[in-house]
Order: sequence, then structure tokens, then C-alpha cells
Amino acid sequence: MKTKVLYIAGRGRSGSTILANCLNEITSYVNIGEANYAWENIFVGGHACGCGEKISSCALWGPVFRSLYGSVDAVPVDDLIRQRKALPSNIEIAAGLAPTKQDVLKEYGAAIQAIYEEVATVSGAEVIVDMSKTPSHLYLLLSATNLDTRVLHLVRDPRGNANSWSKKKKRTDVAPQEDLYMPTLSPVGSCRRYVACNLTLEQLLRRHDVPNIRLRYEDFCANPARMLESTVRALGLPFPGSPFHGQREITLGTNHTIWGNPGRAKSGVTRIREDAAWRVNMAGIHKVLVTALTLPFLLRYGYNVVPTSHQAALPEAA
Ligand SMILES: [Zn+2]
Repeated sequence: MKTKVLYIAGRGRSGSTILANCLNEITSYVNIGEANYAWENIFVGGHACGCGEKISSCALWGPVFRSLYGSVDAVPVDDLIRQRKALPSNIEIAAGLAPTKQDVLKEYGAAIQAIYEEVATVSGAEVIVDMSKTPSHLYLLLSATNLDTRVLHLVRDPRGNANSWSKKKKRTDVAPQEDLYMPTLSPVGSCRRYVACNLTLEQLLRRHDVPNIRLRYEDFCANPARMLESTVRALGLPFPGSPFHGQREITLGTNHTIWGNPGRAKSGVTRIREDAAWRVNMAGIHKVLVTALTLPFLLRYGYNVVPTSHQAALPEAA
């Protein structure tokens, strides 16, 4: 039987970290984080897994890489980075252009598939949650692996997304002396990437017969327990029971996210609520600018052109 992968696709800062952490708490699900960025950050940068351990000591990734490569030090990081560079760009994917280095892509797809299958074996999980989000990693999963991939296209109001990208955030999931910060973007830079990413994902999903659903971050936050269940069920994935206590509260345990936003390290009792600070804090001129630059997406995803209080809705089957 093929290994099931629940791929969270979309722009960074759309709420994928908290969503994936909630999915991680469903029995038989394991959230592996942003697999596409693992090589530089974990093997070259030497950062820790979401569980706080270095990869060689992690209860999941240590056994996975030792089983596949003999030892963690033997993982062919340079080859994996070189192979990943053969992935097509958003423009190439959106235009339907075939990548020039098909053989390299096949090698990378085989390596990724072997890793996900070993994660399933070691963890005993039935569903691997991958929150890489990028269209290019999804392209790889759909074109160069034999995994049973299902896609959750996560979207957020572009004004909330742009406001989040404008903030200078310190990385709290690396050693304090490293003093690392998350990248920032201007409102225009954020809009450009928002449009490119979501347009590419929509084109990619149109071309592949793959189970997929679109979920708005704001709808998830409005009714987290109900939305988590309805989304997973709509994708035809198992739902052995809700990980929430009631509708909004969840106890987050340890996760083995190989990379991701600093929020991945959050654990303990957590109350899900929307980060809606942009509605108050974002400069009016920036709200107008982002609204104008992303208008077709605002309308397509059902957001109000003039932001008002949020109305929850069921996820839309894409
Ligand atoms: Zn770990």
C-alpha cells in the first residue's frame, strides 16, 4: 500500500505551523515539518528537530536516516541539495513546462519517497503531514514519487499574510547565541509571492487528479475542532478521533518537525485563535495597497474587500 502524505500547500505565514501541529495530535498522524528545507538547516546549519534534539539523537529522524544511509553522517546532503535545485520554478510549473533535468528529479523523488516510507515504518503513522508548502515540493511529490499524496491548500487573507511578513521575528527554535531572525518582506514583495504561489498551486492542482481541498486559515481558527475533522474527512483520510478538548483547546505534545517556523516548538495546552492583529495594526495605506494587488485572490477565496469581522464558512472543495 502506498504511503499517505497530507501535503500542506500555500504561502508561508498562513498558519500552517499551528495547523500541522494540531494534525500531529491525531492518532496515526505524524507531522514532519518543512521537509524541503531540511538539508541546509539540519545537516549544514546543525539546527535541532522540533523535539529539541539534534537529528542524530532524535527518536524519529535518527533511526530513519540510520536505516536508509547507515549513519546520520552518511546522508548525501550535497547530492540532495543538488537534486532539489533541479525542481522547476513557479513560472515553469504554472506554464506547464517540463523540467530539463528529469533524471535528477527522479533521483530526488526516489530519495524523498524512501525517507517518507521509512518515517511511516519507524513512527508507525498512517499519514505523514508535510508542511513544506511550496509548489515545487508538491510538484516533486506528484510527478516523481509513488506516494499517495493529498493536498490541503491553505490560504490566508493576504493582508494578514503581508502584515506577518513585515514583522521582525527572532528564531526561538535555535541556540540563543545564533541570534537568527525570520526573513521579512515589504507589502509589495509579499503580494508578489502570494500571487505567484497560489496561482502556481491552482494550476498544478488543475493538472493532477489528486484529492485536494482549500481551507482558509481564518475558518480553521474560528472552528478548529470542526474544521480539522471536516478537512481530513473531505480528503478521504482516516479520522480516529478529535485531538481537541471541546472546540478550541488542544494539548500539543512533542513533534519531530525537521524544520519550520519557530512556533513548531510550542507544546502544552493551547487555545487556537486567529492572529488578527493586522486588522488594527496594519497601516491603512498598506491595507489598500495589498487589497489592490491581490484583488482577484481576495474575491476568489471569499475575503471581504473592505475588511470587517470574520464570518466562518465550511472548507471549499477545490
Ligand atoms: Zn525529533
